[in-house]
Amino acid sequence: MTDNVYPSFFDAPWVDAFVHLADHCITCATCSAMDEEGTNLGLLCAEGERLNEEFRQARRA
Ligand SMILES: [Zn+2]
Repeated sequence: MTDNVYPSFFDAPWVDAFVHLADHCITCATCSAMDEEGTNLGLLCAEGERLNEEFRQARRA
């Protein structure tokens, strides 16, 4: 049973894409790269860019 992990009000079309993006970014050294002050550099690897684009497309849908 993995269908009810998220509350139903999160059941929007873009949630899957967002979760994929977030899951990737916290485990990817490139996407989570920070400068010495802890500011995210906003770098995206190829996979991060693909997931980010998927998320943007889903938000528009
Ligand atoms: Zn990445």
